[in-house]
Amino acid sequence: MTAPVRLHDVGKVYGRRDQAVTALDGVSVDLAAGSFTAVMGPSGSGKSTLLHCAAGLDEPTSGTVTLVGTPLAGKDESELTELRREHVAFVFQAFNLMPALTVWQNVTLPALLAGHEPDTAWVTEVLGRVGLGDRTKHRPGELSGGQQQRVAIARALASRAEVVFADEPTGALDSRTALDVLELVREVARGGQTVVMVTHDPVAASYADAVLFLVDGRLVDRIAPPTVELVADRLVHLGELARGRR
Ligand code: ADP
Repeated sequence: MTAPVRLHDVGKVYGRRDQAVTALDGVSVDLAAGSFTAVMGPSGSGKSTLLHCAAGLDEPTSGTVTLVGTPLAGKDESELTELRREHVAFVFQAFNLMPALTVWQNVTLPALLAGHEPDTAWVTEVLGRVGLGDRTKHRPGELSGGQQQRVAIARALASRAEVVFADEPTGALDSRTALDVLELVREVARGGQTVVMVTHDPVAASYADAVLFLVDGRLVDRIAPPTVELVADRLVHLGELARGRR
C-alpha cells in the first residue's frame, strides 16, 4: 500500500534570483498509514513549508508529493480542495473556527461538508477527551485561547481523516491538557490515521513514533523511537549545526 504522505526530492524556493530563499532542499520522506511523526528544527528551517507542501497548500518548486495515493502535481485548486476535504484534517495556529457556530457544529462541519453523517458517539468522546464535554453549545468567542485550540484539535481528530497535519497543536495548552491531547493523537494514529506534527517541544515530540529534524530545508536526522532526552540533546546539537552552516 502506498504511504498516505510521500515526498520525493522536494525542493521549494521562494522569490527569484538574488531574493531567492531555499525553504526545502531535496526532502524525501514516506509516512506510513497509522504513523505519528514529529517534525522539528530551528526557526526558518522549513517545517511549515514541509507541512504546506505535503498538504497541497503550497506547490513545490521541484520534486513530487503524493497524498493518499494521489500525485498532487498538475492538480488545480478545486481538485486539491476536494482531496483535502475527503482525506485531510488540519490543526494550525490560526484555528479557523467559525465564530457563528457552536463547538459541536464546528467539530462536525468537516464531515457535513464532505457529505458524511457525523459519528455522534465519536464526536462526543473526542470532545470529552479534550475537556470540552460541557462546552459543546458554546461559541468560540465564549472560550479561552486554549479551549479554542482544543476545539480545533477535536475537529481534526473527530473527522477521522486519513491524514492529520498539526502545527504546534499543544502550544497554547497547559501541560496536563497538552499531555491528554498528545495521548489522544497517539491513539488515533494507532487507529490508522497518519499524523504529522510540527513542534518545538521535546515532550510533545516524544509521543510520536519518529522525529524528523530539518536544518536549512534539509532532513538531517531522524530518531525512532524518540525519548524526551534524545530529542532535547539532538535539538541542542542541531542549533550548533545550523549556526555552523551560516
Ligand atoms: P519554519 O516553519 O521551520 O520556521 P518556514 O517553512 O516557515 O520555516 O520557512 C523556511 C524559509 O522559507 C525561511 O527562510 C522563511 O523565511 C522562508 N519562507 C517561508 N514562507 C515564505 C514566503 N511565503 N515567502 C518568502 N519566503 C518564505
